[in-house]
Amino acid sequence: MGDEQALGGIVEIESRTFAVPFECPCCGAAADAEVVVPLKRAPGRTPASDSARRLEFPYCARCVAHVASWEGAGVTSAGIMLVGILASVAVAIVSSVLAGLVLLVGAVAISAGVVTHRRARAAAACGPACASPDAAVSYLGWSGNTSSFSFRSPTYTARFAEHNSTKLVSVSPELRRLLEGHRVARLAVPTPAAAAMTVPPPRSTREWIAKIESTPGRVARRHHLQVALDLAATEEDKAELIRAAMRSDLAPLRARLDKLSGSAKHRALSEAIAEIRAGNLPVELQQAELAELERMRAS
Ligand SMILES: [Zn+2]
Ligand SMILES: [Zn+2]
Repeated sequence: MGDEQALGGIVEIESRTFAVPFECPCCGAAADAEVVVPLKRAPGRTPASDSARRLEFPYCARCVAHVASWEGAGVTSAGIMLVGILASVAVAIVSSVLAGLVLLVGAVAISAGVVTHRRARAAAACGPACASPDAAVSYLGWSGNTSSFSFRSPTYTARFAEHNSTKLVSVSPELRRLLEGHRVARLAVPTPAAAAMTVPPPRSTREWIAKIESTPGRVARRHHLQVALDLAATEEDKAELIRAAMRSDLAPLRARLDKLSGSAKHRALSEAIAEIRAGNLPVELQQAELAELERMRAS
C-alpha cells in the first residue's frame, strides 16, 4: 500500500510522551494485544537523532493477525523474487539468455500472484470496522520539538487527537474538520467508547499491584499504572506502584544483562537508557527506570 496519509492527515504533538486511547487503532475494539510500531521515514521529515526507533501501541489480537499476514505477504514475495533472479542469472550463464529471461518472467508472475493472494486473505480476515488491512498506525518520529503520527482510521485519529488536545500543534484544516465532526457525532449518539472512559471501581494499592504484576504486555501494564497513579491516595502508594511496574518492566532487560559483561553490558544498558528516554511511558516510571539504569551503568 502507498504512503498516502489517513484522513485527517498528520497528528503532531508537542511532547515526547502522549496519551493513547486504550483501544485498537484499526477496529476500535478493546485492546487485548500490543504492537511495536517502527519509526517510519516520511518525505520531508527528518527525525531527530534521539527520536524513538520504535513505539508500542495497544491493538486487538484479531487486527494484529491480519496486519502480520499482510506484511508477511510482501516478505514472502520478495523472497520468491530474489530466488527467481538468482536462478535466472544462473540459467542465462550456463544455458541461454532466453531461458533465463523466461524463468525471470515466471518468477515475477509467481511473486505477484503470491502477494495478491496473501493480501486478499489478509483483507478477508478484517472485520467490518477495520480501517485497513495493513498497519493502522504510523510513527513519523520526534523532530526535536514534536512527535508526529498518522492513522488509517478517522475515528481513531479524532480520539487520539482528543486524548492529547492540550499538546496538539500544527492542526491542519482536515484534522480540525475531523475533530469537529467527531464532537458533533458524539453529542448526537453517545458511543460505547464514552462509557468505557468512566472511572473503574476503586481498588486497593495491593490489588493494583497484583494487576500490574500479572499483566504481560508493557503497554497494558503502563496503562494500568497510569490509572492507579491517578487514583492513589498517598505518596507511599504511588512509590509502591511505580516500584512494582518497574520490576516487571525491567525484568526482561535484567535477564539479558545477566548473560553479558564488560563493554557489551555497558552498551546494552546505554541502549536501554536511550530507549526509555525516547519512549512513551508515565513520567514517574520513566524517571525511576532511568535512575535505576544509570545506577547499574555506573556500578
Ligand atoms: Zn482491532
Ligand atoms: Zn483490523
